[in-house]
Amino acid sequence: MNIILLGPPGAGKGTQARILCEERDMIQLSTGDMLREAKQSGTEMGQRVADVMARGELVTDEIVIGLIREKLEGEKKGGFIFDGFPRTLAQVDALADLLAEEGETLHSVIEMRVDDDALVARITARSTCANCGEVYNDLTKPIPEDGKCAKCGGTEFTRRADDNEESLKQRLMEYYKKTSPLIGYYYAKGQLAPVNGLGEIAEVRAAIARVLDASEGAAGRDA
Ligand code: AMP
Repeated sequence: MNIILLGPPGAGKGTQARILCEERDMIQLSTGDMLREAKQSGTEMGQRVADVMARGELVTDEIVIGLIREKLEGEKKGGFIFDGFPRTLAQVDALADLLAEEGETLHSVIEMRVDDDALVARITARSTCANCGEVYNDLTKPIPEDGKCAKCGGTEFTRRADDNEESLKQRLMEYYKKTSPLIGYYYAKGQLAPVNGLGEIAEVRAAIARVLDASEGAAGRDA
């Protein structure tokens, strides 16, 4: 199963991708995480994209397609979850080509729907365990009272440099201008599965599981 999690920043793509990795042995491919890693480790590319990311703009298609290409050639396990990729129609075409080269197909595009007010509240309250990447939210999923990450026991938590109102505004503009056209495209291809991203984490998880189970059943019947 290869799927895309599509939705605006703060829709919960990363949180749900991590759950799918645990439950279905899938591999999360988050271009945002890859770019932050490149920035952190000070590679030349990481330095080049740092300002663009801080402003909330998209980095070039060439860079993110290169990152995805490398990962697709590696281990495949229970399938790939594309989280934050593709974000432009050029990336859509590149992904189709890369999957075809690997003899893989795209099973489902899950559109996580959340309204803009909820996004601002979610993003400005978000923090991440510096050790394992578990995502917390001051309002809906606070860091445990003992100050330790529930997953790994880590005690250091970071807030993303671009999780502020100013750059969120720009990230939303980029989303509506460049990424939201993907919704119409995948709808027309019959691959779009909208899910209400506003509920509790467990509710959204269950909604996604229903889509994947149905898609898996259909794939089995076709085989
Ligand atoms: P994310 O963690 O998915 O919210 O991504 C953080 C930032 O990384 C975005 O605001 C962009 O600057 C950059 N980025 C991540 N994925 C992509 C992509 N597929 N195309 C272009 N820029 C991206």
